[in-house]
Amino acid sequence: MPAYPGFKGASLHDVHFCLRKLRRANEGKVLLHAHTKPYFRSFRREEEKLAEIEGGERALVTASGMAAITIAVMSCLEKDGRVVTSDIIYGGTHDLFTKILPRLGFEVSYVDFGDISRLEEELKRGASVVYFESPANPTMKVIDIEEVSKVAHEAGATVLFDNTFATPYCQQPLRLGVDVNIESLTKYLSGHGDALGDAVIGRRDYILNLRGTWSTIFGATMSPLNAWLVLRGVKTLHVRMERHCRNAMVLAEFLEDHPKVKRVLYPGLPSHPQHEIAKKQMRCFGGMLSFEVENTTIAMNVMNNLRMSYIGVSLGDVETLVEWPAYMTHMTMPRKERRKLGITDTLIRVSVGLEDPDDMIEDFDQALSQA
Ligand code: PLP
Repeated sequence: MPAYPGFKGASLHDVHFCLRKLRRANEGKVLLHAHTKPYFRSFRREEEKLAEIEGGERALVTASGMAAITIAVMSCLEKDGRVVTSDIIYGGTHDLFTKILPRLGFEVSYVDFGDISRLEEELKRGASVVYFESPANPTMKVIDIEEVSKVAHEAGATVLFDNTFATPYCQQPLRLGVDVNIESLTKYLSGHGDALGDAVIGRRDYILNLRGTWSTIFGATMSPLNAWLVLRGVKTLHVRMERHCRNAMVLAEFLEDHPKVKRVLYPGLPSHPQHEIAKKQMRCFGGMLSFEVENTTIAMNVMNNLRMSYIGVSLGDVETLVEWPAYMTHMTMPRKERRKLGITDTLIRVSVGLEDPDDMIEDFDQALSQA
């Protein structure tokens, strides 16, 4: 029987904004389908598709990336639980780990996951969760996913990974050993900057617990329109990612040769400090890069001079987006800590879009030259 009776063979999927209250009592059992709660069938197709793409047993979609990260991490924590996290992570996740979890009695330790013996040392004290991103936001640091998963499992921790920068097209973390993979659907998977959502993918029992308890209680449920937009976006993910990756490589090479640019961070460049690890675990290197200029005035001018790109904290859109991590996505992180991690005041992050590469280079060239 087709998942959607009446829509067999249709290339466009249907969207249900509300559901008839459908309660069927059957020999003492009540089948519950209550408005837009996590059992809502608009999400089913999306979740099945995402689990298949990622190579996981089950997926749960949520209202946003931060909703997903919050419930995915907290569902693994018991009283006095401990999170060991990579030191370079998205600013919102950093806020969750510094402002919320410690208040609730959970310990969070930050470690350079590039230093495996240091991580092993830290894990001797035990951990419920090991959490990381790669490439990491915003310095594009690449971490060996297989190696970190192995040492985390030896210490008995659950490994949670944020694959938002790479997408399942470039990198498949579940196949590299992580237990739970998190993808902000707001970014590349929806792809057009008009939807908000996230997917958590992992083992069946873990996802069913998240769906049945955590997502409902925390109100993390995705809206039907977002589910529909994401499903539409996912259809073209492979084509878009191919172009995002190609354009990012072209821009990275151009920036690396530009006299106004001090340093370019793109996992596909041989000059990237973890290029060899990136080659080992990524099929292609994604659409995100960062670069440093000489001073903050130049950084500001470059961003304002760009004619084709937009300034924005999000990423993964059709258009190129630039952002200033020290003053935008990572502004709540103390400056001293930011600097130590290489999130300098002169670092610019670029989400490379799908524009014609010649036009894009011309635009960055004029923006840098006049900065
Ligand atoms: N993970 C990463 C790496 C991000 O960059 C972001 C947002 O920028 C998120 C998660 C959060 O996603 P959302 O905007 O869907 O809450």
